[in-house]
This record gives sequence, C-alpha cells and structure tokens, in this order.
Amino acid sequence: MRCPVKATEPVKIAIVGLGKIAHDQHIPSIGRSRAFTLAATVSRGSSLPGFDHYGRLGDLLGARPDVTAVALCVPPQVRFGMAWEALQAGRDVLLEKPPGATVAEVQALADLARAKGRTLFATWHSRFAPAVAPAKDWLAHREVKTARIVWREDVRKWHPGQTWIWQAGGMGVFDPGINALSILTEIMPHPVHLTSAEMEFPENCETPIAARLEFEDAVGGTVSADFDFRQTGPQTWDIAVETSDGSLKLSAGGAKMEIDGRPVDQAAEAEYDGIYARFAELLAAGSSDVDASPLVHVADAFMLGRRIVTDPFHDE
Ligand code: NAP
Repeated sequence: MRCPVKATEPVKIAIVGLGKIAHDQHIPSIGRSRAFTLAATVSRGSSLPGFDHYGRLGDLLGARPDVTAVALCVPPQVRFGMAWEALQAGRDVLLEKPPGATVAEVQALADLARAKGRTLFATWHSRFAPAVAPAKDWLAHREVKTARIVWREDVRKWHPGQTWIWQAGGMGVFDPGINALSILTEIMPHPVHLTSAEMEFPENCETPIAARLEFEDAVGGTVSADFDFRQTGPQTWDIAVETSDGSLKLSAGGAKMEIDGRPVDQAAEAEYDGIYARFAELLAAGSSDVDASPLVHVADAFMLGRRIVTDPFHDE
C-alpha cells in the first residue's frame, strides 16, 4: 500500500476500448463523477468527439503523464498486456470484469500493482447492484441450506457481434454467469466450492453457451447454478436462498430483493456510479481491491466440468 493521497482535483482517467460497456456505462458514470474527469480515449477504430484520442495505449501513456488512471473496457483476452503496461508506466488501473482470461494473470497484476505502489481495482459491477449489500447483511447470521441461481439471457440481444465471447478466453455464457458468481461470493456467509459442472459447447465455438454447476460449502449448504445464453422472451437473473430462518430472493441481477416472499424497497440501480465511487476511495487510500474468487469458480468449471457438444451458434 502506498501513502494515502488527498485528491484536490478530479483524477484524469482514460477509457481503453470504446465498445458497448464503455458507451453504456463508463462514459456516463465518469461524466457524473466529481472524482474523475474523462481526459482521453484509446481505441483501435473510433473516438469520442471533443476528447483527446489515441490509437494505442502506449501512445497515451507516453504523451499524457497527467492521465494517472485508465479504465480497461476491452475483452478479457487482451486485458492483461494492457494492464501490465499501464501499471509499469505508473498508472492506476480499473479492470472491467472478468479481471483476466486466467487466474494467474490476475495474481501477477495484483503483485505488480503492489510492487509499483499503484491501485488495481478488479471490478465486479453486479456487487454494486442495490440489493446485494442488504442481502449480504441479511445472510450474515443465517445458515444457508440451499441456493439456486438462474441466469438466463439472450446472447443475441446483449452481445451482438461480440465474436471474442465465443473464442477461447471469452468465457461464453460465463461472461454473464460470472456476474451471478460475483454476487454469490459476496453474499454467502461461508465460501463455496464447485462439486460438479456440465457445459454445452456449440460445435462451432470455443466457449460454452450453457452451464449447470453444483457447489457446496463446508457447513452443509448447497448451491446450484443454471446459466444459459439461449433465453428469448423474459430474461432471468435470479438467486433464491433458503436458510434455516427464512428465504431471500434476489432478482433483476441484484436490483430487487424479497424476504419470505415480501418485496423490500431498494435504492435505484447505479452499479457503475458505485464502481467509480469505490475506485476514488481506493485511490485516496492508496490501496487495491482484487478478488479473483468468481473467476476461480469459472476456472474450476472448465477444470472439473463435463463437456457436451451442441448445435452450432450463429449470431444473426
Ligand atoms: P465490446 O462491445 O466488444 O467492446 C470491447 C471493445 O474492446 C471493442 O469495441 C474494442 O474497442 C476493444 N478491443 C480491443 N481489443 C479487442 C479485441 N482483440 N477484440 C475485440 N475488441 C477489442 O464488449 P463489451 O460488451 O463492451 O465488453 C467489454 C468487457 O466489459 C467484457 O469483459 C465484458 O465482460 C464487460 N462487460 C460488458 C457488459 C455488457 O453489457 N456488454 C456489462 C458489464 C461488463 P476499440 O475498437 O475502441 O478498440
């Protein structure tokens, strides 16, 4: 940890990778933040009108020493090299989820951030959904008997044209599924570990389109997860937990909560505003936040899981 710093001016940050999540969430949240100002973008092929633009991260790092932080909004397969380059150049780094394509590279980045005295923030946006912190509090003193995750969405709606998701390291259905695992690892009172997994791989893809997972904890609790990218119609992002003292249900990806079937009011959704507020706290404290536990479960699924070949997937 380096010495805490008191920021007097907004931190100048650059966004790297102007894709869907950069446009949908990062640019608006930075725009609303008093702690950050968007100073530049790095993109292979596009730019933002009115903002300084670079085609390569190295060019930004060389030309703009005043830009002290970067938000990496690129696919996981190319994130490690960029994060390493930015940390080596003395910048603070925010990683979109998942923090890497492998577990070891995340550990290496955490070690480098520590050695260089920089902040590394491996974000899990779903942990900032409004009902997640209340759910964690409610479960903290209860005994979980079972939990059931159902995370089913339409890949054509949410990831149109994203070929990287179907390539090795893109994680397929674990790209959204890891959001559920980031909530699970946050709210469960005891850590869980994978006991079995089954994954369906389209015959023309390197990553799964569906996965079914089973976990248990060390005190008798069990968790099942059903991830599927083929859901049309209503989309489902639910986690239902039965305890020895009542039931809890998170729905809409952690935006809504019910206790024993009764809705509990929540604040409005502001996941990415929460991410940037947390990044500002970490910078002020001179510390990092790197929890790879959701990624470990995905790696375990690839290690332990049974593979089934299924129908080819075509994006149109
Ligand atoms: P995307 O729309 O495909 O955008 C990724 C951007 O990264 C591309 O537009 C491209 O920007 C840049 N890039 C650099 N190298 C690339 C390469 N080799 N292949 C493809 N793109 C490359 O993806 P996204 O949905 O924004 O997702 C990016 C990350 O955010 C993923 O890790 C994803 O899990 C996470 N995320 C996405 C969502 C969502 O709803 N989409 C939600 C939360 C988190 P330039 O052309 O500007 O260089």
